[in-house]
Amino acid sequence: MTESKDRTVGLPVADEVVDAARVLGADAAGERHAELVPTLRRASELYYQQDAPELSDADYDGLMRELVAIETAFPALITPDSPTQRVGAALTGAFGEVVHGRPMLSLGNVFDQDELRAFDQRVRRGLGLAPAPDPAPDLRYVAELKIDGLAISLRYERGLFVQGATRGDGTTGEDVTTNLRTISVLPERLLEAATAEVRGEVFMPKAEFARINAEREESGLPTYANPRNSGAGSLRQQDPRVTAGRRLSSWTYQLIEDGPDGQPTVGSQSEALVRLAALGLPVNPDRAEGLDIDGVCRFLEEWRDKRHELPYETDGVVVKVDRFDQQERLGMVARAPRWAIAYKFPPEQVETVLEDIVPYVGRTGTLTPVAHMRPARVAGSTVARATLHNLDEVRRKDLRIGDWVVLQKAGDVIPEVVRPLPERRTGAERIFEMPAACPVCGTAVARDEGAVRVYCPNQTCPARLAQEFAHFAGRGGMDIEGAGWAVLEQLLARGLVRTRGDFYRLTIADLVSLDRFARKSAENLRASIERSRRRPLARVLNSLGIPQVGEQTAIDLAGWIAERWPAQGMDPREWTALVARSLPTVTTEEFQEVPGVGAVVAGSIAGYFGAPETAAVLTDLVDAGVVAEPPARRLAPGSGAAAGPLAGKSVVVTGTLSGWDRAAAEEAIRAAGGRASGSVSKNTSYLVAGENAGSKLAKAQELGVTVLDEAGFRKLVAGEP
Ligand code: NAD
Repeated sequence: MTESKDRTVGLPVADEVVDAARVLGADAAGERHAELVPTLRRASELYYQQDAPELSDADYDGLMRELVAIETAFPALITPDSPTQRVGAALTGAFGEVVHGRPMLSLGNVFDQDELRAFDQRVRRGLGLAPAPDPAPDLRYVAELKIDGLAISLRYERGLFVQGATRGDGTTGEDVTTNLRTISVLPERLLEAATAEVRGEVFMPKAEFARINAEREESGLPTYANPRNSGAGSLRQQDPRVTAGRRLSSWTYQLIEDGPDGQPTVGSQSEALVRLAALGLPVNPDRAEGLDIDGVCRFLEEWRDKRHELPYETDGVVVKVDRFDQQERLGMVARAPRWAIAYKFPPEQVETVLEDIVPYVGRTGTLTPVAHMRPARVAGSTVARATLHNLDEVRRKDLRIGDWVVLQKAGDVIPEVVRPLPERRTGAERIFEMPAACPVCGTAVARDEGAVRVYCPNQTCPARLAQEFAHFAGRGGMDIEGAGWAVLEQLLARGLVRTRGDFYRLTIADLVSLDRFARKSAENLRASIERSRRRPLARVLNSLGIPQVGEQTAIDLAGWIAERWPAQGMDPREWTALVARSLPTVTTEEFQEVPGVGAVVAGSIAGYFGAPETAAVLTDLVDAGVVAEPPARRLAPGSGAAAGPLAGKSVVVTGTLSGWDRAAAEEAIRAAGGRASGSVSKNTSYLVAGENAGSKLAKAQELGVTVLDEAGFRKLVAGEP
């Protein structure tokens, strides 16, 4: 393949594609240009400003390539505000602005190895080196995985994190300092008192994406399309508590740091990565250095499949010229550097048969149509089921039972039926209809006026109960370790658990009667039930499965409740009972006072607490001795730094605590404005040592870090002296 010499557009594109644009002729090209520009601009706004794209990345990339080809063929069409000339999208004004010291660029894309080799040729030409296949020992590349997240820039002064921003339009970004402080892998303080600008990517791990989407779907909230959008959406939140509640992570990959002599402290990308790690910043170990272009191609091959095993999403490989002096000579063009390129992995899609569409009854009674497919291997695993979300979605995609369909994994995690292949229809395909009665209990289904949701209205439908109880005992709820699905099914089938409170009434004798339960396992389960008896109010609220209320709304609601009925000076059991008695009297209007809660959600909450069944649920829990702990003081949203009793403090938890599991303890630290960290260093403010604390305790003692027991920790997060 050859490539165009006319590179005013700045992005690489093959001659064949440019020729195809050229044959359009100037008029037709102009017309197509006028269509593409607003389409791409709108797509960018949805993607960057709202984190809710309507186009797939592959479709977007395809349209962008077409625009690049047209502008390369007809340069007169290029305007400074063309999407080919711009990075990201304009700022929304929702955050403060940060002007970047050096612009944050985009990257040119290539989609196959030929295009990658063309990039190598351009680089050689730019550096005055012989063209391939001649060896070029002075030219070496670094290959890094391209993290599909949100680009960020972090400013450290004398080792302290002072400001963080998004890329924005490349010149000016959004100030997300407070939100970035909630990301535990990003240090508040570097290991050296260095002053530097650090760039990297914030992302949402796949598991967290799956967790949040499952929760949103259950709560009737729209799901995120992929981890990139949920990660970006989580970071660009007005309320840092929302960011804190989503376990975001980060890799850093760029360092801008001058030494005392005014010269950069490092001379190459490979050295920069080593220095970043030495400063205590997270650096992705999955990378390769010292590569020629063949080596880069081997790296791509290696990661094509292996990437599916990573706990985060990568959409390609970034190839960078290693030496900074060479990078400088190559320079940049329009919106991307000439010394780096992004190779994008092909989207993995397979074709299979949609054998059936089966409605499942969820925790809130919602009937969800689920695609049953001929098992197919996609993105590293075998897939046979995929949610189709609701009937409207089935209709919108025109999916019919018996269709051949295109299947992929959204964000590498969640199987998704992309579209049918109507050209393969035989006429035997069937249109799917929702059943008139619940497939589990036979009650006539209901559909709220104007809503897409079809549901079983029977509060005691066995399908609903089993899932409600699983949610109640699950991780986001009371977190009863060991009460998994298999145990739960037996407890329900034997009538040992008929209400949520019954979990707390189970005896060792009850548990020993379960299949495969010896005395020891019964005791363990009993102990974990006991541990779960006291949980933060937000968790207790979340465990109830209030329609339209997810983890974050539960946190907001808990904060509001604690302000309205202050717990100070009250016995926690009494306070729990007071809250349980009071909630049914709160009106929809009053629930709208909860931050972030609008009329619809407020109506749903009031409807839930106003129902007589709910009153019975709450009374039962109070009778069973469940205690809801009032939330610690809140973060002040929008303040430059985290507020709260642990503001600016780094806390490490080790060993077993009786009242909290690790996630809950870390949540409490963050809620109190602190940072939960995994390892002890001289920057650690407190070590909380539970039972069986080991090497971390020893290290803390050695470094003179303050060590607290559980009682001390409880006081600390509550802001007591
Ligand atoms: P890009 O995502 O193709 O590449 C540039 C970005 O890669 C950098 O800004 C950086 O944040 C990131 N990156 C990740 N790992 C990196 C590493 N190791 N080293 C350096 N950089 C790394 O470019 P872009 O300008 O951010 O976005 C364009 C892409 O966004 C498109 O190709 C498309 O996939 C997507 N997009 C999609 C839509 C849509 O509607 N679906 C709309 C706009 C953009």
